[in-house]
Amino acid sequence: MFAMKRLWNRPTQKSAYDTVIIGGGLHGLAAAYYLARDHGLTDVAVIDRRYIGFGGAGRNTAIVRANQRTQENVHLYNEGLKLWPELTRELDFNLMFYNCGNLNLVHSEAGLGAFRMNVATAQFCGVKSELLDAKGCKEVVPQLDISDRLKFPIYGGMYHPPGGTIRHDALVWGLAKGAAKKGVHILQQTEVMDIGVDKGRVTSVRTDKGVINARRVLIAAGGYSTLLCRMVGILLPIHVLTIQAMVSQPMKPFLHHVVSSGTYHAYCHQSLKGELVTGSHMDPWPNYTTRVTARYIKHQAEALTEMMPCLKGLKFMRIWSGLADMTPDMAPIMDGNTQVENLFYDAGWGYFGFKSAPIAGRYMAKWIATGQRPDILSPFGLERYREARLQGETSTPINYGPWD
Ligand SMILES: Cc1cc2nc3c(=O)[nH]c(=O)nc-3n(C[C@H](O)[C@H](O)[C@H](O)COP(=O)(O)OP(=O)(O)OC[C@H]3O[C@@H](n4cnc5c(N)ncnc54)[C@H](O)[C@@H]3O)c2cc1C
Repeated sequence: MFAMKRLWNRPTQKSAYDTVIIGGGLHGLAAAYYLARDHGLTDVAVIDRRYIGFGGAGRNTAIVRANQRTQENVHLYNEGLKLWPELTRELDFNLMFYNCGNLNLVHSEAGLGAFRMNVATAQFCGVKSELLDAKGCKEVVPQLDISDRLKFPIYGGMYHPPGGTIRHDALVWGLAKGAAKKGVHILQQTEVMDIGVDKGRVTSVRTDKGVINARRVLIAAGGYSTLLCRMVGILLPIHVLTIQAMVSQPMKPFLHHVVSSGTYHAYCHQSLKGELVTGSHMDPWPNYTTRVTARYIKHQAEALTEMMPCLKGLKFMRIWSGLADMTPDMAPIMDGNTQVENLFYDAGWGYFGFKSAPIAGRYMAKWIATGQRPDILSPFGLERYREARLQGETSTPINYGPWD
């Protein structure tokens, strides 16, 4: 008789774990995996109120790259980019890394000027990235219309060959499999309602299935991290916005790069299944809904067919949305063990948290296990906002109102 083998366990919840991780997204699962793999810490539970991959982990558009704006971020994302082949091997799970490269388009000399800084920073950090003129962009992506017909004619672009795409569900399932195999408990359909603190030290989490004592707690709950941190009096300068995405009907392979345009607020790539995967900027009103809008579909259709007229007539098949946890400087917050002893948090990844998940999880695991903050994480502390040392990941710091 053929028996299906489960990829991860369905354990009975224990009354105590050494470490509890709140959030079964990629950051939580990666931290659990590396706690077990690198530090032998297997008395760990990953708790999710729905199911693993329910959040941004299972809703993103799967783009990976390392051409961020600042050196601190480039170093971190670049280490993350190098992990894919290694993870595919050690998880024994095909993550379907497609190293197709990313092309970010610009539509003015000023835009190209802004990319000059990204390219210079990337090259300084040893990351491949180059500026292209409009003709160069067309050589990379022949479907682009570089004529003056466009409302915003294509002026040039930033080409980043090491980037590409990964299958997002595969990464969720692979990390869950890897962590469970080492003994980590994955507790789904379990919601954390409160976090216990005694004499300034974390002691437990209260779930809808009972209290779990914990020596250490990591909050990695994506858009919900602000609410969880607030339970212990930590206020994060994060605003949660909805971000939408769509896929089209499948087509024969025609697009071999990730293409994006900030001016048109649109990006796309072709999945290995042949669908055009497309997303754009966030809806600019803070909320926790995962609604989709007709306005978005119209916008995407207009923007994509203007840049690539060959897409006219293509049908969208599915649309969905998720939450983007945005910080004022568009860089994440990885901190802990200060306001509350042994309580850590990893949040504020906005729309960059897929590509960074394994490397962030690896360093957070190191910090949790050793008690020493790895140097590479120092720039990402919460104190930078109080000390007005924002990271320059956006040229215009975002402020949606007071912290809440
Ligand atoms: C449409 C879209 C496109 C994106 N595209 C990209 C992209 O191309 N590249 C990229 O790098 N990033 C992208 N992102 C961003 C990326 O998906 C997120 O930054 C990333 O998934 C965040 O991971 P996480 O583990 O922090 O959170 P999540 O994956 O959101 O996981 C958090 C988990 O916490 C659980 N949870 C919440 N509250 C509780 C509670 N009280 N108790 C227990 N569990 C709880 C949730 O159920 C959820 O499963 C995109 C996001 C979206 C929505």
